[in-house]
Order: sequence, then structure tokens, then C-alpha cells
Amino acid sequence: MCGIVGFVGREEAAPILLEGLRQMEYRGYDSAGIAVRSPEKGLQVKKSKGRLQALADLTHNGTDVSGCLGIGHTRWATHGEPNDINAHPHVSENGAIALVHNGIIENYLEIKEQLARQGVSFASDTDTEVVAQLLEFHYNECGSMLEAVGRVLRRIEGSYAFGIICSDYPNALIAARKDSPLILGYGENGNFIASDVTAIIKHTRDVAYMNDGEIAVLTENSIDVFDSEMTPLEKEHSFIEWDVTAAEKCGYPHFMFKEILEQPEAVRKTISPRIRDGRIVLDDISLTAEYAENISHIYMIACGSAFYAGSVAKYVWEQLLRRPVEVVLASEFRYSDPLVDENTLVIAISQSGETLDTMAALREAKRLGGRTLAVCNVVGSSIAREADDVLYTWAGPEIAVATSKGYSTQLAALDLIGLYLADLLGSVSREEYDEILTELQVLPEKMQQYLEHYEETQYYASLYFNHDSIFFIGRNLDFAMGLEGSLKLKEISYIHSEAYASGELKHGTISLIEPGTLVVALGTHGPLFDKAMSNVVEVKARGATVLAVTTEGFREKMEKTADAVIAVPETHRLLQPSLGIVPLQLFAYYVALQRGCDIDKPRNLAKSVTVE
Ligand code: GLU
Repeated sequence: MCGIVGFVGREEAAPILLEGLRQMEYRGYDSAGIAVRSPEKGLQVKKSKGRLQALADLTHNGTDVSGCLGIGHTRWATHGEPNDINAHPHVSENGAIALVHNGIIENYLEIKEQLARQGVSFASDTDTEVVAQLLEFHYNECGSMLEAVGRVLRRIEGSYAFGIICSDYPNALIAARKDSPLILGYGENGNFIASDVTAIIKHTRDVAYMNDGEIAVLTENSIDVFDSEMTPLEKEHSFIEWDVTAAEKCGYPHFMFKEILEQPEAVRKTISPRIRDGRIVLDDISLTAEYAENISHIYMIACGSAFYAGSVAKYVWEQLLRRPVEVVLASEFRYSDPLVDENTLVIAISQSGETLDTMAALREAKRLGGRTLAVCNVVGSSIAREADDVLYTWAGPEIAVATSKGYSTQLAALDLIGLYLADLLGSVSREEYDEILTELQVLPEKMQQYLEHYEETQYYASLYFNHDSIFFIGRNLDFAMGLEGSLKLKEISYIHSEAYASGELKHGTISLIEPGTLVVALGTHGPLFDKAMSNVVEVKARGATVLAVTTEGFREKMEKTADAVIAVPETHRLLQPSLGIVPLQLFAYYVALQRGCDIDKPRNLAKSVTVE
């Protein structure tokens, strides 16, 4: 959940660490810290509660600490409140070992009690400090840091990425991982570890992904990697092609705003390379017609917005494939004894490719013999590597915690795979295939068309931003799209909001509608437009204020009933959520802006959820 960065080389470490943490602050941001070692000053540890700026101020932008070896951390607390003491790095009792950690040590209490019995005292409430103390304990016992790390890893349970430095090893940085992301960066002036490439891309694009159970020892000139038995390994290098400016604000007020505007391009990059001569070509995945024939059941497993992308895809795929599709929250799937066999196709959707719940669900699906296909944005991420197949979304780095282009590209990728499978199965007519494919290709232009006239959405946000509770209603694909629209609003504006299937209102929730309640009515799904309209009339009759999102074609009809109408261009009915979601994202954005919220870093949230 948090961000880790580490450097050993021929430059001052502190500015590199602070800059790296700044790029990763979206991952977690309740406190931050660095530990830097120099021959003259020894180990210097600085940490501070709050945003990274507090740490930058405390260290005078890093100038107060010197040395070319260091580790840094931006925290998203799981154990112990966010304060200076619980912030990382954590230091062992004798002050010689400093450690940063991403993840959760599940058996930390048991180890803590054992160490306490042996006289070790603890400064913080964290699970992480226990690891620093255990490391010192084993190091004192065996005299070798690497051996001590190995012993600690065998003892602890849970998930982790670690960066470790030790006074006795003035030129080395040790890293280890299990179920939390960690990459190695090979630079000209030194070497790096980081939770995310964005932290180090300014220094190097030459990286390797650490696998579970691996331990790395970095010096200024080398990176040696070992498996859990301490056997040396050759790592495959990857070259990061991301444009550096993609991870920068470039004059936009917020990353989220920039990323919303980048959607046409991101969707184009996801779709275009996969369409050749009027056909979908998915070179990256190896599903055959024979396999497709035997699919009896499809699961989509995901969390948060990815779950809502799966919810849209369920409607699309069931229409196209005529096979049952179930969308299951990854955190539930794992423990639900799911019905998976070799004829079950399991689609794991995760922007970061590191979502721990989704990863665990994917492993469970594989263990049960299912076939797995990942939809991920981060090349080389854990989920992408573990799934049988992966289709990458090409959204580029997404920094705002609340996703926009990540979600849109997931929709695009899922549309592509759905249509591809339908073609393999022959469950879609040639005309419909061609029609959907043509519309998929012009989606970016249609998104752009709306984005050129989004001022009315901004205006409606300024009219309605002070509501305390907002309902999103819609049928079928509009309902699935409303789930994401409502989540967006909740995440960044902190307004309570619910998404309901319009037809379900009268079975309970309509009792909550009273004069002045804001209802965002979604009427973009052509086949059910009239039914959706009836539900709009029902809430109007109870005094609701209705902001409607519909298509250009239905604008006039909608204007007769709704108080305000936003219209998006029309496309194939199955693709309409890709256009309808854009005003919902912008509405959430502008409402949050009006309410003075911290849009890119909403409270209590973090981007890449690598804890369970
Ligand atoms: N469990 C650790 C803590 O609460 C690390 C959390 C994180 O990944 O930021 O300090």
C-alpha cells in the first residue's frame, strides 16, 4: 500500500529518496520517513507524520542528511496510528539496522511477545518494528546480515516488501519481497529499489521485477539476487517505455483532471493496436476456439472500480457470449469455496496488477484448475505475471488515487476480449461484430467530442455540490455504470451516495427520496430508455431534483422531466458506458473541487491496495 524507495550509489541519497517518494505519495500518505547512511554521520533517520512536505520541511529538502545509501517510505498505516513514531523507517534497538516495509506481518504479536520476553523493548505499535528487532536478534546470533534476513523471512508470515540498511554494511542495501511489489532499478550512478517505476524513472528505465521469496543485495555497482535458498539468480531486465511527463501534472490542477482528459488517448492506445484488417487480433492471449467452446462459466474477479468495470462487462459478455458471467469481489471470491474447474475462465482485473485481494483470488482460481486471464495496466506486475494470459491496458501511469483512465481502458480491454471470444464461439453475427468493432475504433473521438463541451457538467456540479446524499439510478448497463459514478463521487468528495438499479427503488430505497434529494438518473441505455424514464418520473413525483445523463438522441425527451441534462454522443448500446462514465467522473471532480477536497489524495485511501 505504501511506497518504498531505496538508493545506493555515487550521489546524495536524500534528494533521490524524497523525489521518489513524491512520485509515489499516491500509494499512501499518512506519514513518511527516510534513513540515510554516511561514513561521517552514520545512520540518520528522519520521519514525520502527515504529507511528504512535512518530511521535506523537516530535512530542508533532504539537505540535513547526507550519504549515498538510503531508504525511504510513505506510509498507509495498517498497524498503529499515523504518527511520527509509527512512521517508517523502523530502527532496531541498538540503532544499527533500519528498515522500511510495505505490507502486513500477520504473526507479529507472537514474535513481539517472544522478543519482549528476551528483554527487547519496542518504540512503536507497528508490525514492522518487530521485523527490525527480529533482524537484530538473528544478526547478533549469526553475524551475517544476509543469513539473518533469510532467518527472519522464514519466521514471519504475511506480505512484505522490505528495504534494509545496516551500519555494519556501509555500502549495501538489502531488499526482499512476498506479495507486495518491489522492483530493482539499474542506474548509471547507482542502483535502486522501488515499489513503483514512477519513483525511479527519472534515473533509470532499466529494471527487473522481484519475485516472491527473492532477496536482493544492491551496491553502487551491482545487484545480486538470490532465491529463498540463497542460490544466486539471473534476473531478466525490462525496459520501461513510459513517458516521464505521463507521471507529471504538466500544468493541470490535479492528476485526476489530467487523467480524465487523457482517456481518449489511453483508450485509443488500448484498442487500436489490437485491430487489424477489420478483425480483433489478440496476439498477447492464447485462448483458442476449442477452449472457448468448453467454457461453462466465467468469473470476473476484482476490487473497487475494477469490480465495477467487471460489472459492466458482465452485461456485455453475457449478451455477446451467451455464457453465464459472474462478477465477484476478489476479497470474497477467495474465501467462498468458488466453483472453479478447468472449464471456468477467470478474468482478474487490476490496474496496478498488485492488488493483493485480486492476486489471492487469482491464485485460488489457479489452484482449483481454472484458466486465468489478467487485465492489468502495469507491465510485469505480479498479477500479470501469474495469470495464464494477460491483456494490458495502455493507460500509462495513473497517479490520482481515484481511477479514471484506468477504468476506461479496462472497459475497452474487456469489450475487446468479449467480442474476440464471441467471434471464436460464433455467438455474434457478422453484422453486429462489424458494428461493435467500428464503434470501438471511434470511441476515442466520441469521448473527445464530449470532453470539448464539458462546461455544463462543471456548471451542474456548482449547482449541486452541497447535497449530502446523492442517488445514482439506472437500468442494465446504466446501473453498472452508475456504480462507478457513485464510487467516484464518494471517493473524492466524501458525499454519501448510492447506486441503485432503477427498478429496485420501489422495493425499498424510494423511501429515502424526499423533496430536494439529488438523483443522478442515467438514461444512456437505449433499449430501456422508456423504462428508465418512468423511474425518473417516480422520483420527481416525490420531490427529487434530477440531474440526468443521457445520449444526444434522448436529450429532448429527458429534458421534459429532468431538472438538468448532460448528453454524450451515441455509440453501440454495449459500449455506451464508456462515454456515459466521463461526465460522471467530471461531475465528481468538480463537486470535490467545490467542496475543497484533496482530489488526488482522498483521505484514508491509497492507490495500490497491497494489503488484505
Ligand atoms: N504494516 C505497516 C504499518 O502499518 C506497513 C503499512 C504500509 O504498507 O504502509 O506500518
